[in-house]
Amino acid sequence: MISIEKSHKTYPNHPTRAFLLALEDVLGKNGVNALLRIANLQGWIDTYPAENFEREVDLSEFSSINAALDEIYGSRGSHGLARRASKSAFDLTWKQHGALGDLQTAEIDSLPAQTRNKEGLAVFAKVLSATSDLECDVQEEDNIILFRVQNCPVCWGRESSSPTCQGFVGLLEGCLLWLGSGKGFEVTEKECSAAGGEACTFSINKVPVG
Ligand SMILES: [Zn+2]
Repeated sequence: MISIEKSHKTYPNHPTRAFLLALEDVLGKNGVNALLRIANLQGWIDTYPAENFEREVDLSEFSSINAALDEIYGSRGSHGLARRASKSAFDLTWKQHGALGDLQTAEIDSLPAQTRNKEGLAVFAKVLSATSDLECDVQEEDNIILFRVQNCPVCWGRESSSPTCQGFVGLLEGCLLWLGSGKGFEVTEKECSAAGGEACTFSINKVPVG
């Protein structure tokens, strides 16, 4: 059973709930129940975090779910699952519930794609930082955008030999799909707190895939 010390830092309820519901689509309710048992979150089995943006999920709880995915499915299987589920979680929560509402679609559409991604991700970084204890910022280099996260909810309190936060990659992919009106952009985790990095840092290619 996973045991990660409480962080006393928080992530909002609704994105956590949406992540579990998206996992249910693939694993079924029994699969998620097994996952929650291994994550030492038995209390959540019939009571997922509520459908609101209260900050009631400890980062260690969210990271325990990701650690349990690794334990059951191995890192490759778990990475695919986490990435896919967090991509749906973006659509179900951050996108739909106005958390990104100050970024008007018409306004975004008038910007060239590259500026649109950078500005959109900067807004997402600000919204995430304001609604949780994540500390996110966005920087730009020649061909890439860098999205940095301190207090990452996927790997909090975990150790890994290589970057492990596909659960965050999916979130950024969901955001980029929305910003790029369906175009996909490659997201790679360059540095990971669980693998000895100072922060989890994700590199986003400015050129769309395909
Ligand atoms: Zn991380």
